[in-house]
Amino acid sequence: MRRLALPALALALLLTGCGSGAATVQNSLFAMDTVMSFTLNGEGDPQALQDTLGELGEIIHGLEDRMSATDEDSEIYALNHAQGQPVSLSPETAELLEQALELCRVTGGALDITAYPAVEAWGFPTGEYRVPGPEELDQLVGQIDYTRLEVDEADGTAVLPAGMEADLGAVAKGYAGDLLAEQLAEQGIDSALLNLGESTILAVGEKPEGTPWRIAVQDPAGEGYLGVLELRDRALGTSGGYQRYFESGGQTYWHIMDPATAAPARSGLAGVTVVSSSGLLCDGLSTALFVMGLEEGVQFWRDHQSLEFEVLFVTDEGELYLTPGLEDSFSLTEEYRDRGVTVLS
Ligand code: ADP
Ligand code: MG
Repeated sequence: MRRLALPALALALLLTGCGSGAATVQNSLFAMDTVMSFTLNGEGDPQALQDTLGELGEIIHGLEDRMSATDEDSEIYALNHAQGQPVSLSPETAELLEQALELCRVTGGALDITAYPAVEAWGFPTGEYRVPGPEELDQLVGQIDYTRLEVDEADGTAVLPAGMEADLGAVAKGYAGDLLAEQLAEQGIDSALLNLGESTILAVGEKPEGTPWRIAVQDPAGEGYLGVLELRDRALGTSGGYQRYFESGGQTYWHIMDPATAAPARSGLAGVTVVSSSGLLCDGLSTALFVMGLEEGVQFWRDHQSLEFEVLFVTDEGELYLTPGLEDSFSLTEEYRDRGVTVLS
């Protein structure tokens, strides 16, 4: 199985405070196709914090082994190649499939975890990029339909019709972040920053000095940071066309598919950031809102207040739209201070 070790990044820092017993430990690892980094703060024995860091890494690699769409030993791979036969799943995979299906339903299929045949046809898993023709796209649209994926969480099984393929890429990092945060809570660690590859971040508690975690929001159109979100006990998920893409014939094609066309979603949005208490919700909704676009996405937010999430939309033109719950926590960086920000209602 494929596991890239990044020796240069696998540094573990130990910064022990002066006599107070306060310690900070950090670690980076490569998993789920991205570089993740975890910072934990705590009192007492720094070795215990180090051990916890090790456990977080094991949880992540364990999830990746089960849920990767490309790893031939994974449960998702088995599901995708079972030719319509039921496959057995671990409780975590069954739980995530079920919860992801719920998000597919809630978002009316903007999130569709069976979009993988399209993701593959465009070459994203292998990097052998290509632009499928109209007939191929038509056929791919017919292969995407989350309602045909059946998950029996109690039995720990799932079944998918032959020719269809599922992929948890849009939700796995958020779910993983939630499991890591649970693990920290069990161990009484109440200050941590879990960065699962920039697009999914969990701000656990606050900084040791009692201030919120400060999380930079990338400018989808450039290298810089649009602004900063100050968060306490919140998860954040970002989806954007700038995160993984290729260019062909003067066009840019990215890794987020519109299930209705089997082609990269062009909704007029360049990026969407969702903030809530659930990593899974943030991850799933950021992908779905990116597919929906601004108008539909704002309506979705208005219609689903009970989900308790906030959104920062960035359009292709670089305009920013913010739900009111983020007004106090978001600030533009200096270079972007003239940028128009609309607070939604
Ligand atoms: P990232 O993985 O960069 O954080 P997302 O969370 O938005 O970004 O997930 C994108 C991944 O989800 C793609 O790489 C692909 O595997 C899968 N995917 C693409 N489009 C959809 C979609 N409409 N619904 C569900 N999964 C999708
Ligand atoms: Mg996502």
